[in-house]
Amino acid sequence: MLVRTHTCGQLRESDVGATVRLNGWVNSYRGHGTGLVFIDLRDRYGLTQLVFDGEDLPGDVMETADHLRNEDVVAVEGTVRVRTGGENPKLPTGKIEIEVSRLEVLNKTANPPFLPDDLAKLPNEELRLTHRYIDLRRPKMQKIMQARHRLAKVTRDYFHENGFLEVDTPILYKSTPEGAREFLVPSRNVPGGWYALPQSPQLFKQILMIAGCDRYIQLCRCFRDEDPRADRQAEFTQVDLEMSFVRREQVMEMMEGYIRRLWREMAGIDIPAMSRMTYRDAMERFGIDRPDTRYGLEIADISEIASRSEVAFFKDALARGAERPRFNSKRGVVKAIRVPGGAEKLTRKITDGYNEFARSFGAGGCAVVKVNAQGQFETGVAKFLEGVRGDLTAALGLTPGDTVLFVADEYAVCTKALGELRQKVARDMGVVPPPGAEGGPWNFLFVVDFPMFERNKETGRWVAMHHPFTAPRDDQAQTFVEASVDDEVTIESIVSAGYDIVLNGQEIAGGSIRIHDPKVQSKVFQLLGLTPQQAREKFSFLLEALSFGAPPHGGIAFGLDRLVMNFVGTDNIRDVIAFPKTQTGADLMTRAPSAATDEQLREVHVRSTWTPPAT
Ligand code: ASP
Repeated sequence: MLVRTHTCGQLRESDVGATVRLNGWVNSYRGHGTGLVFIDLRDRYGLTQLVFDGEDLPGDVMETADHLRNEDVVAVEGTVRVRTGGENPKLPTGKIEIEVSRLEVLNKTANPPFLPDDLAKLPNEELRLTHRYIDLRRPKMQKIMQARHRLAKVTRDYFHENGFLEVDTPILYKSTPEGAREFLVPSRNVPGGWYALPQSPQLFKQILMIAGCDRYIQLCRCFRDEDPRADRQAEFTQVDLEMSFVRREQVMEMMEGYIRRLWREMAGIDIPAMSRMTYRDAMERFGIDRPDTRYGLEIADISEIASRSEVAFFKDALARGAERPRFNSKRGVVKAIRVPGGAEKLTRKITDGYNEFARSFGAGGCAVVKVNAQGQFETGVAKFLEGVRGDLTAALGLTPGDTVLFVADEYAVCTKALGELRQKVARDMGVVPPPGAEGGPWNFLFVVDFPMFERNKETGRWVAMHHPFTAPRDDQAQTFVEASVDDEVTIESIVSAGYDIVLNGQEIAGGSIRIHDPKVQSKVFQLLGLTPQQAREKFSFLLEALSFGAPPHGGIAFGLDRLVMNFVGTDNIRDVIAFPKTQTGADLMTRAPSAATDEQLREVHVRSTWTPPAT
């Protein structure tokens, strides 16, 4: 083989006259049958033009060159010369070409199902994933892989400089409920025994703190068998870390430093100091714990004004749980969003859809009012609001041309419905910048002071808002320890030492200070409905470890895939993973998951209950 002396992105005018060898893929060809063949040869580093001249080359070489097609893999030897047909300013190698003297075909391709051409229309994703090796050859995908590599490197550099140790944690793990459904792996050696794939290395990293590791980092794979969603992958990567002897502030400071470094090195952007918002504030103003603050459309609680209106469903909602404390999820409230300029942009057809949309989040519906040129209300419930029009106008700062959207319901339902609606309205109004738009805006936010627990809607049980290992905020610990597990109002009011990092409405990281007292941990398990025996069965190793000298500790995990998405400007998570799965968890290239043979199942002591559907 003519082993390469240079890559296809390397040669310049200063190399003219040199004899070189290049290896790569045929990206394009011109001039077949004319006695002069031009080939653009491609590798990861770029494109170089090759010239085969029939006047100088033996007939058999010319014959082979004449039959080269896109994606054939070749090796050539030749001389670098100044381009005879004029330079191509778009290519770094655009001033030169190679006058080929020797050609070797390394692999003749079958007819490719598509070409790795960024300029051509993309084939459907199924085809791209089935032949991922062709798709990944596209320069755009090569750039994404390089960006991902760079991000991993900057991450390791930053944490290394700050004294973190990279430690691998097991993939074959113990089944420990942390929130999502797990992937199970049967054991051959222990009949009836099962491993689970880790949803995250949460407990291992905590145990590393107990083990004296002090500062841990890992770029780790996590597995969650969740229902398919466009922006999720069952298998994804986290930048996972943990620190000992820290309070929340120190973890947050370290994270801010990391984000600054990333954006500087990846995008040349200096991020201003990151702001903070409490969970309550986020829910009150944006109806969501990961607010997109790139646009306004804030939510206002207008319960007091609504109680003086003639709108019957406002009053019904307000009557619900009226005696409950201010943020209690079951208290009735009326909330509104002012949409400046909505009267024109949000057509009747669009706002009719909002009613249905609000219902899909459990609300009774969404009332719509438009403000006309005289400042009067029009449509829907307008006439029932007449008596409070002045107050509403003042409270919401209404001006002609606005649309106002109202939802009335229990606090939790109303907040959720309007939080979702706000994002939809923003899209309809065209005020959301595209993903990873050049130069931002990059609106980072620490969200803090989450409740420790919330009620699961289906089961009515308490669930941990972050995960069961999150500590109460320092000033809440005593109240938590003393609270009766039946004291719903107190339990709901306990604030955790958790924090999320939100970027333009996406949660890019989540973490907390952890419980390091086994008694507090046992109480959390009890509250989550685990009997002492179940807690011991599932978590004895953790409770035991916590009882043998556990330092206070805390950490966080970033979704690495999502971080990369921001730098390469895609909203498709599959674009930033070399071998992603489809939404149903299939790998189209290898055809996984696939059937196991009876023999394989017998070996791992498993019998399948699945029967193929009748055809
Ligand atoms: N293990 C958590 C998660 O995967 C992150 C953390 O609390 O550090 O969400």
